[in-house]
Amino acid sequence: MFDFNIKEECGVFGIFNHLDASQMVYLGLYSLQHRGQESAGIAVSNRDRICNFRRMGLVSDIFKPKVIKKLTGSIAIGHVRYSTSGFSIERNAQPFSVFYDKGPIAVSHNGNISNAFKVRQDLEKEGAIFQTMLDSEIIVHLLAKQQGNDLAQNLINSLNQLQGAYSFLVMTEDKLIAARDPWGFRPLCLGKLGGSYVVSSETCAFDLIGAKYLREVEPGELVVISDEGLKSYDINKAEKSQYCIFEHIYFARPDSVVFGKSVQAVRKKLGRELAKEFPADVDIVIPVPDSGNYAAYGYAEQSGIPFEMGFVRNHYVGRTFIKPNQSDRSFAVKVKLNPVKDIIKGKRIVVVDDSIVRATTSKLRVDALREAGAKEVHLRISAPPITNSCFFGIDTPEKNRLIAANNTVEEIQAFLGVDSLGYISIEGLNLAVGDVDKFCLACFTGEYPLPVEEDKDKLHLENTTQIDFDF
Ligand code: SF4
Repeated sequence: MFDFNIKEECGVFGIFNHLDASQMVYLGLYSLQHRGQESAGIAVSNRDRICNFRRMGLVSDIFKPKVIKKLTGSIAIGHVRYSTSGFSIERNAQPFSVFYDKGPIAVSHNGNISNAFKVRQDLEKEGAIFQTMLDSEIIVHLLAKQQGNDLAQNLINSLNQLQGAYSFLVMTEDKLIAARDPWGFRPLCLGKLGGSYVVSSETCAFDLIGAKYLREVEPGELVVISDEGLKSYDINKAEKSQYCIFEHIYFARPDSVVFGKSVQAVRKKLGRELAKEFPADVDIVIPVPDSGNYAAYGYAEQSGIPFEMGFVRNHYVGRTFIKPNQSDRSFAVKVKLNPVKDIIKGKRIVVVDDSIVRATTSKLRVDALREAGAKEVHLRISAPPITNSCFFGIDTPEKNRLIAANNTVEEIQAFLGVDSLGYISIEGLNLAVGDVDKFCLACFTGEYPLPVEEDKDKLHLENTTQIDFDF
């Protein structure tokens, strides 16, 4: 991504009935690291008690062999987090685990509950005391209020009070439960590894552990996995699904199958459509790695223009990187992505990227290409202009900071200093993704599929200052 200001959300992974459950979840989370790099956690059940370990940092840094060795049990769930709701602090890391009157329970959540503020306020008025700022904690309080003994029904009653995006994993001492909101905003997949069931945000995690992909957890479905096997329940059905289009455009790993389609294949098609809509007379096509790679391949294939890797990404820049000069943003940009001068110099270039958010970083990238000797720079974007914030689990800046919300394409082109700028159209999206009416497009159209409380949606906004660790 040219711009740094749209962030991944979270990833969840769970396994039922495996001798090395925590080791398998560790590997699953390793594959899902792209979905969140702030914190990670694993909760494991040995059928007698639940043990939970969560820390700030990357999966590989947190889960050393001696930690995994202590997380013994045959059922486990895990989580990688980028905060869309609540501070980025250890207390807000997941899985979230508590004891209630029916025993211990642990929860991992990917998404954003859009009526969280209201539901939480109501619970607090009734005396609930929250431990975290997570919208995810609400589900535990709702569950604790349920009177019956049927866990599936209690969860369904609780989930029916929530609106918004959720792909939940819930673990008790002897069950693994997966639930997906009625609109299916976020992906959630079911797989099998020998005699074990696995559930993951993305199928790439199944590949690493050798699990077989079975199917998606359907929108509005709750799946209970226990010693009796797998049972499916309906939470609620929405009129139509609202899959997040950005999972295909940017978030998901290209080697995953998301919403029933190969991510890399969709991205290539986006590039092809982009080449049809916005051809250019240039010498080379380059991607903004890594998320622009496949769309750039598609653009090059369709146009017959040679594909080159004109940028090199430094994959090893961590959060602890110290800038020599706090005000020098261009340095921070260059340390992550550097133009390859031999490829760029004297060339007319099409650069393919997945989106433009605030455009400040994009401008620095264009400047870097000019400095490297590019004769012409033509920018092609495999998403339509982002004109609205997301309230369903993706961290986008407020609307007034989105460049396309306040400027025409011509004005953005002038700001960036590119020779031409082309965003794929909604029609182009439809041709590339297929069935675009099954997808949420609200960040392009402003037509939110559910009511959103723009000033109250994100719980932390009222009381805290947003922390931005990116540079
Ligand atoms: S608003 Fe945009 S980012 Fe959010 S769920 Fe809809 S398509 Fe995805």
